[in-house]
Amino acid sequence: METIVKGMEGIEQAAEIIRKGGLVAFPTETVYGLGGNALDPEASRKIYAAKGRPSDNPLIVHVSCIDEVKPLVSELPGDAEKLMEAFWPGPLTIIMPKSDIVPYETTGGLDTVAVRCPENRVTLAFIKESGLPIAGPSANTSGKPSPTEAMHVKHDLDGKIDMILDDGPVGIGVESTIIDMSGEVPTLLRPGAITIEDLTDALGRKVEIDPAIIAGGVSEGIHPKAPGMKYRHYAPNARMSLVTTRLLKEKDYDVSLGERLEADKQVAALINDLVKNDEEEGLKVGIICCEETRGCYTEASDKKAEIKVLGHRSEPLSMTHELFRVLREFDDDKVERIYAESYSDKGVGFALMNRMRKAAGMNEIIAD
Ligand code: AMP
Ligand code: MG
Repeated sequence: METIVKGMEGIEQAAEIIRKGGLVAFPTETVYGLGGNALDPEASRKIYAAKGRPSDNPLIVHVSCIDEVKPLVSELPGDAEKLMEAFWPGPLTIIMPKSDIVPYETTGGLDTVAVRCPENRVTLAFIKESGLPIAGPSANTSGKPSPTEAMHVKHDLDGKIDMILDDGPVGIGVESTIIDMSGEVPTLLRPGAITIEDLTDALGRKVEIDPAIIAGGVSEGIHPKAPGMKYRHYAPNARMSLVTTRLLKEKDYDVSLGERLEADKQVAALINDLVKNDEEEGLKVGIICCEETRGCYTEASDKKAEIKVLGHRSEPLSMTHELFRVLREFDDDKVERIYAESYSDKGVGFALMNRMRKAAGMNEIIAD
């Protein structure tokens, strides 16, 4: 059994475990990570084994300051440094050409390395104390929702790792934004709390979006540049569907207040119907909605459906914070079908909807 240690108290022990080649789960502002010495191929192999993760899916290397990036890269593009200065410590992972000291085991066989400096005082102290870059993917079993609390890590990885550093629930709740700065054109590989608008502003030039983000993984002719994006991800055990209306989709959620209220009613009516049918078949059902619409589901809550309010759709960060916890709760409660409202892709909404679409396996029901 691993030890769970709260706050700063476990730092020396955690650093010692890393130096000896062991694994420590650590808190960040996005989700909990599973850390090992990024320069040790054996530690990286242990990470893949503990998570059950395919070994062609590279790990993110965590550092405690910009100076620690230099030994990890063969070249530090000026624009990459600009992004570090603007957003670190923070939820932004930057892909750059790797140096020889970073083993292919850590980069999934790629010549590039993903680096980030997380905004969490316990983890920054832990990285400094260990004196090593820390390879850390999310600390969940591969394919499951990422862990946003220490107990989620324990649930997935108990007995497979050496220690969990616990700093309470995370702030953001979805993984970091990933931007590829190794080529000519900066490219967004995974949306997160740092938005494409933030990146474009900081760089003063256009940022491309990897087509795989929109396609939701591999489809014909599209191969994601972040290998991890091709796997089924963030998935609850239940079959999940997103529900929206034709008008919301056509207008990209840019509708008048009257149209919005009408669409809310349409979505809720369809969800309430679907729930009723499933319950008649004896299935356990969950609904995901927001503060603005919770009142539309009183009919379902009179029955057995479990209703989870993520937060305010006008503040997507309030919703990213809850999403993975809610998906895990549905698993704990053995929910078999989930119906979730769809929201706008604007700003941080792009990260929220990216995770929700993946959790739903891109499954969408459209009300006419
Ligand atoms: P996780 O830390 O579990 O969120 O997973 C790390 C994510 O970063 C995965 O989606 C990886 O595919 C992606 N990633 C890590 N290194 C690279 C790289 N060198 N090039 C492209 N994507 C990467
Ligand atoms: Mg992950």
